[in-house]
Amino acid sequence: MKEQTLVLIKPDGLKKSLTGNILTRLSETKLDIVGTKIVQVSKELAEAHYCHLKDKPFFPELIHYIMGDYHKKKVMALVYWGEDAIGKVRSICGETNPEKADSVSIRGAYGRITTNGVYENVIHASENSKEAEREIKLWFQPDEIIISNIYPTEEIEKTIKARRWK
Ligand code: UDP
Ligand code: MG
Repeated sequence: MKEQTLVLIKPDGLKKSLTGNILTRLSETKLDIVGTKIVQVSKELAEAHYCHLKDKPFFPELIHYIMGDYHKKKVMALVYWGEDAIGKVRSICGETNPEKADSVSIRGAYGRITTNGVYENVIHASENSKEAEREIKLWFQPDEIIISNIYPTEEIEKTIKARRWK
């Protein structure tokens, strides 16, 4: 089944200049990149993204981590699309705990556990299709994704202030 999944190269991945390596590893999947951008993660976005972990003791540190307070204040967000995208990407990423992850996986190769207990595992990938939908809708607007109708949309009219090149 063709499906889409959200990938984030986390601030530690960017700080360690791993973007190229990670994208090369992900290209083994032969999936299509259908959306990408660099994001400065607000507290609101960080907390919404990790809302399922809000009761965990490591949650406050996790929010600092994903906002880039320990590395660089940016994240690279991508949407991959294709056959079994969620499973293929998760498998190359490896387990959540970088010390348990297969050493040839992205997290096994590049992740670490900090002394304050956060898994700095350089990459996020959606766990299942429900989470992928929730996460893609959180990080991207419909027009930022080049294939249409991955999820239903509706047209709205809005007046916004925007910048243009001078
Ligand atoms: N995390 C952590 N300690 C844990 C579990 C998770 O620091 O015991 C962090 C880690 O960065 C992980 C993120 O929280 O990637 C989200 O956790 P989740 O359980 O959703 O794992 P994932 O889906 O990223 O493998
Ligand atoms: Mg998860």
